[in-house]
Amino acid sequence: MLRRSRAILRRGQRLTRWQIEVQGEGMTLPHAEKVYLVGAGPGDPELLTVKAQKLLARADVVLHDDLVPAAILALAGPQAEIVNVGKRCGAKGTTQDRINTRMIESARRGRVVVRLKSGDPGIFGRLAEELDALENANVPFEVVPGITAGIAAAAALGASLTDRRTSARVVVVTNHYAQGSQQAERRDWQSLAREDATLVIYMPGQDFTTLRLELLAAGLSPKIPALIVSRATTREQRHQFVTLGKLDELPLLEAPAILLIGRSLDGALRRSSGDRNSVDFDEAAVILSSL
Ligand code: SAH
Repeated sequence: MLRRSRAILRRGQRLTRWQIEVQGEGMTLPHAEKVYLVGAGPGDPELLTVKAQKLLARADVVLHDDLVPAAILALAGPQAEIVNVGKRCGAKGTTQDRINTRMIESARRGRVVVRLKSGDPGIFGRLAEELDALENANVPFEVVPGITAGIAAAAALGASLTDRRTSARVVVVTNHYAQGSQQAERRDWQSLAREDATLVIYMPGQDFTTLRLELLAAGLSPKIPALIVSRATTREQRHQFVTLGKLDELPLLEAPAILLIGRSLDGALRRSSGDRNSVDFDEAAVILSSL
């Protein structure tokens, strides 16, 4: 690292350690008293960014969600205190307020804090609420993006989310409703679903019968390909293609699972026939949750 840095020095120029870090590794040393909100990607540790990996290696505290796999947490240094603040498996009763308090207190104690979220922190990750809390507490922060599940699922199945011949837009949406929301507040598919859009549906739930009816009612053709991918990019990855008209026949796969719908999947669907990792409808596992 040092040698590489020297190569770009002009004669007589001296480098501080901080500069060596910047020029040799492309990144400054992580700051104590700062919170890094980092995307862990979809599951495969090799899909982590280099920046995320470096921050993990240097973090004093790692506050992570349930979906972050052990193989990624293992990249944290021996000094790191690793805390699952996920709503499911973590400390029972972890609330958003407690997570915010923990981030703020750890930063104020002078520690390098990594708040590790699955996929990209800015996609259905409550990032905005956490940034508001940090801002209100005057704690500096930095967001490090990650590969979101929808992008990873498409890549894993050899699909392009856009296709200039068929699909001009990508709609990132969830089929999950905040607690307490009324039936009347259901997703307005009419305004989202278009023949030239790829729908990327996070937390798709289990009610594919209703979803099928809603999307057909919104005017989509029953022939549009749909793809469900469970545990994308992990060894347990499973998937199934159908057409929208048969969405209710989709197997219930293990969470986390994501649903892609659009003409952009035409090629991937065609290539997938005879695919070994595709799920046999009769053997379909049962969804454990809509996490
Ligand atoms: N911030 C995350 C999304 C969190 S919401 C991201 O950018 O990916 C959680 C939802 O993401 C899950 O219910 C599921 O729909 C989707 N998801 C996350 N990881 C996934 C994976 N490996 N495979 C399929 N879907 C995944």
